[in-house]
Amino acid sequence: MADATAMEAYEVSEACIACDACCDDFPDIFVMNDDHTRAQVINESPVGTFNPWDIVNVCPVDAISLIKGEMPPPPENMDADEDEGPIELEDDRPWEIRWAEAKDLEENEWERMKRYGLAYSLEEDLNKYYLRFEMPATVPNHKLKFKWGLPNKMPEYKSEITLDGRFVKIRAQLEDKRVRKLCGAVNSFPDGFLRELELDIPCSNFSKKYDPEDRILTITLDKATAADDVAA
Ligand code: SF4
Repeated sequence: MADATAMEAYEVSEACIACDACCDDFPDIFVMNDDHTRAQVINESPVGTFNPWDIVNVCPVDAISLIKGEMPPPPENMDADEDEGPIELEDDRPWEIRWAEAKDLEENEWERMKRYGLAYSLEEDLNKYYLRFEMPATVPNHKLKFKWGLPNKMPEYKSEITLDGRFVKIRAQLEDKRVRKLCGAVNSFPDGFLRELELDIPCSNFSKKYDPEDRILTITLDKATAADDVAA
């Protein structure tokens, strides 16, 4: 039987990039230091409260280790990333060379806006609205992108639309776990976005279509008619 008073302790190494992930997910154990340069451990954790793998794996740069207590066997889904298929790199040169070439390149502002759901247009005709979102196409450059062998082409986002009269919500989520790990380390790279738009005319229905080649998500909204029972 597990000792109810047994504690586990963690340590944060110099590899920490101050991404806040451990502090956000396990605030009873980690806080950011005053300079916001490195997470620090403030408490031990009673055995059984968390699975140590969840704590260790929250860190995108493997800076957290268990120094008191025992790691249980790895969870079965630990290799789930591999289920997402192999990453195909167009350039097989060593990552250090590719990073050296990329690190001073300035990022396209429009590409950054796509990651926040701000790269969109709204058009209309008599009966419909047409909302077009340009979805992210490129994984932003960062040392870890190259070190971890991540692709340049952004994996697809999963989108979800909800409509309530004049209000339409567009939620998009990056699902690839390997690239999502980069979100905690790179500025201006959330793992998804939520856009809420208010239309002038209430709508009764919508349909969505995604063009994977151009990465355009088109949402077509039917303007409500007098016969539709739709909130104004
Ligand atoms: S998750 Fe890792 S890199 Fe991020 S703050 Fe915690 S220790 Fe540092």
